[in-house]
Amino acid sequence: MKDAFKAISKDFETFGAVEREGEIVFERVEAFERVSEERSRYAPKEFLISRNENVLILEDYGKTAVFGVKSCDLKGFYLMDRQILGKDPFYTEKREKTLFANFVCNEPCEGGFCSSFGGPVLDQYDLQILRNEEKYHVAVSQRYDGYFNSFQREDGSYLRDFNDRFNEKMDILPVDGLESRMKWSSALWKDYASRCISCGACNFSCPTCYCFDLYDEGEDRKREWDSCILAGFTSSSAGNIRKDLDERLRQRFYHKFVYFKRSSDTYLCSGCNRCVEDCPVEIDIKEVISHDYSEE
Ligand code: SF4
Ligand code: SF4
Repeated sequence: MKDAFKAISKDFETFGAVEREGEIVFERVEAFERVSEERSRYAPKEFLISRNENVLILEDYGKTAVFGVKSCDLKGFYLMDRQILGKDPFYTEKREKTLFANFVCNEPCEGGFCSSFGGPVLDQYDLQILRNEEKYHVAVSQRYDGYFNSFQREDGSYLRDFNDRFNEKMDILPVDGLESRMKWSSALWKDYASRCISCGACNFSCPTCYCFDLYDEGEDRKREWDSCILAGFTSSSAGNIRKDLDERLRQRFYHKFVYFKRSSDTYLCSGCNRCVEDCPVEIDIKEVISHDYSEE
């Protein structure tokens, strides 16, 4: 991996997950040994969607390689691709110039539920890395295969078998058919609304959320991360179609588990558990999946 990293860093500006003042953050790294296998405090969404940017100028972005992204966070980009790749020029430009090297977790993390969506070994990746003590098993996409020409080849069964063993260790949630089971009139939405403080943290921390707000500032037209939980999200001159908080919370879960599934044939969630960890009032998306709607 040291040699592969060196070769890649000749062509890309390299970033990695590193520990900084007790938190794992992404910053420039010059050597593979510096990259942490711990999960970053925040999803690496900012590499492709700036928190705030002027949409009147499309910059010429350089080639970037990001090492140490976790599989659940990387999967977020592949889910976003279905909706915005090729449509959002800023995302598309950065996506095409960014190489992500994801680490497969060796053990299930607390609260995570990636196994409900296939597990930590992904079908789509640039460089997918699984460490087995001192040895690395790397799945590499055709696009970046040239960096691994001189490495020993294997048939990929190690990663597949590892994923099966991993998934046996994690509880699998009943996600199948959720788009038909969820109920518009469920008591969950009002219960959540009685606790939620509309901070938006669940959206901002989510590796699959991509909504933004647009506004003018001087000569610039800015876009900024937005949250469907915030009161102004669907406000327009005609009023607000979701003026109550329970409607906005329902929208978040319906987008992830009903609308996106119907339009893209997959759920808009990777099971990372970030929204649960960052919610100050302990609203847990796993409850939305496991809830028995048939009694309501
Ligand atoms: S668990 Fe929460 S933060 Fe993670 S992908 Fe799903 S909705 Fe987003
Ligand atoms: S993180 Fe929790 S409190 Fe904040 S908006 Fe989301 S659900 Fe509401």
